[in-house]
Amino acid sequence: MRASLVEDAACAGTGTVFCRNCRFCTMVCPAGVRIPEVMTMINLSVAAGSADVRAGDLLRHTYAARTAGGPASACVGCHACDGRCPQGIPIIRQMARATLLFER
Ligand code: SF4
Ligand code: SF4
Repeated sequence: MRASLVEDAACAGTGTVFCRNCRFCTMVCPAGVRIPEVMTMINLSVAAGSADVRAGDLLRHTYAARTAGGPASACVGCHACDGRCPQGIPIIRQMARATLLFER
C-alpha cells in the first residue's frame, strides 16, 4: 500500500509532490486540512530519505506544528478537492500517505 501511495504520476517517480501552494484545494476543503503544508512535509521527508517509511521524530514534530488544526488524518475523503489541483496531485492519496509517514 505504501509503495502505491508514492508512485502517483504527480510524483514523477521521485516521491516528491509538485505542490505549488496555490491553495485552490484548501478553499473547498470542509475539514480544514492544511493540504499545502502537508505536501511540503512530504517533500521534506523525501529529501530526508524517507519517502515511504515512518518519518523521524524531528520531521514528525515539525509536521505537527505546521499542520496544527488540520493534519492529513483530518481528511474525511469527501472528494471536494478532486480535480481542483492544477498540478494533478491526487490529494486524498497523498493525505493517506502523509498520515502513514507522520501520524502512525
Ligand atoms: S477529500 Fe479530504 S483533503 Fe479533499 S476536500 Fe475532502 S476532506 Fe479535504
Ligand atoms: S491545489 Fe494542488 S498545487 Fe495547489 S495547494 Fe493544493 S495540492 Fe498544492
